Amino acid sequence: MPPTRRGRSNARFTTCSSEFFGAGILTSPPVVIVAGAGIGGLTAALALAHSGFRVVVLEQAERLEETGAGIQLSPNAARVLIDLGLEEQLKPYVTAPAGLRVLGAKSGHEIVRMPLGETAALRYGAPYWAIHRGDLQAALARAVAQRVDIRLKLGAHVDDCVAHPNGLTVSAHGSAGTADERGIALLAADGLWSTTRARMGYGGPPRFAGRSAWRALVRAKDVAPEFAEPLIYLWLGRDAHLVHYPVKGGSLINIVVIMDDDWNAPGWSEPATRSDLLSRFSTQHWAPQALSLLSAPEAWLKWALYDRKPILRWTRGPVALLGDAAHPMLPYLAQGAAMAIEDAAVAARCLAREPHDPAVALRGYCAVRRARAWKVQRLAARNGGRYHLGGLRAMVRDAAMRTLGGARLLEHYDWIYDWRPPAALSLA
Ligand SMILES: Cc1cc2nc3c(=O)[nH]c(=O)nc-3n(C[C@H](O)[C@H](O)[C@H](O)COP(=O)(O)OP(=O)(O)OC[C@H]3O[C@@H](n4cnc5c(N)ncnc54)[C@H](O)[C@@H]3O)c2cc1C
Repeated sequence: MPPTRRGRSNARFTTCSSEFFGAGILTSPPVVIVAGAGIGGLTAALALAHSGFRVVVLEQAERLEETGAGIQLSPNAARVLIDLGLEEQLKPYVTAPAGLRVLGAKSGHEIVRMPLGETAALRYGAPYWAIHRGDLQAALARAVAQRVDIRLKLGAHVDDCVAHPNGLTVSAHGSAGTADERGIALLAADGLWSTTRARMGYGGPPRFAGRSAWRALVRAKDVAPEFAEPLIYLWLGRDAHLVHYPVKGGSLINIVVIMDDDWNAPGWSEPATRSDLLSRFSTQHWAPQALSLLSAPEAWLKWALYDRKPILRWTRGPVALLGDAAHPMLPYLAQGAAMAIEDAAVAARCLAREPHDPAVALRGYCAVRRARAWKVQRLAARNGGRYHLGGLRAMVRDAAMRTLGGARLLEHYDWIYDWRPPAALSLA
């Protein structure tokens, strides 16, 4: 099917201060507090500021460091960032992969190639990008720093939150001591290990998924030329899969290997060596091209994969969970950060519509977001099962993908990539 132009989003962020704050409902822009300065928290801060709020972001880390790996920013997420005016800031750091090549790990043969690049941009009205998580977080942090209506406090670990008739008070501690911040609402974007979520009554640790993700960066000039092309590679092997694509404007290749594993410890960055990794990959199951790529980096970082059961309520009064804190998901659909970005756009719009009643606004946010996030969580988990098949079941999977073909495979993702904030929440 030929690509179609579905039209660019017309739901750009506009300030609602004249509509809400100048109309006698509220006299001055209220403050919204955001816990966590990850991708979700920083995007939420920008979306809230664009909607006319003042924002305080409390981040426990003393510095925003380059953690994590490459991130695919599919059109549903890229659109939100572009609508926030970030396109020019992000362009130097993104690549726009022309397609997704799915290969058999053992044969090294292409199973299917799903078009992205121009096809995705035309079809969804927004680009499909790849970027390093650190570059994305740094670009968002720079945009935050340029706004007088957002205050980012580093070294501020959110401990508690007390609601009162005029809003809420959030207490945080850090190297500078303890401090209270007052606002009308708290968006808790404090990630997989969210303490706000635990305080809401959803205690218990995340579920270990029985897999670990190993990540390395290697110079594009040190890999086979085909791997430096703007493409996403997905190699499907028995008990493991490999994803790689260029980041940092094409100068580095981000490599992530996900394998069945019983190693299990929280955190993003446990050091690992090339020999640790290669000891788990044999020529019996992996093609020479894949093994040669895996041999390129000397140092690896690994982390264990977790998710959590979906929950019904993401809000308690004027407090709401956002991103991984609300719906952590396994990375087999490349949508965790994208969902956090979508959440941010919707939460800001809901609060802008009902700034006088944040509890109602946040219930509305949860109602808009929940079914979609659950569906993405489910599909991501299901993909994880399909990716690591072996033997006959892998052959059936590959044959089905081949028959489907790349264009129709992309159509399967229309419901994810063609997302935009609901028209009813448009502020324009
Ligand atoms: C291997 C792998 C590959 C992935 N690939 C993709 C991809 O291609 N595309 C995609 O969209 N997603 C991807 N993801 C998922 C994505 O990385 C996450 O979903 C996303 O980063 C979540 O963002 P967040 O802002 O919700 O949480 P986080 O990024 O975890 O940020 C939480 C922040 O809150 C802070 N914090 C925690 N507790 C407190 C506290 N009490 N007080 C103050 N601050 C606090 C933390 O320090 C942190 O800065 C991948 C994940 C993995 C593991």
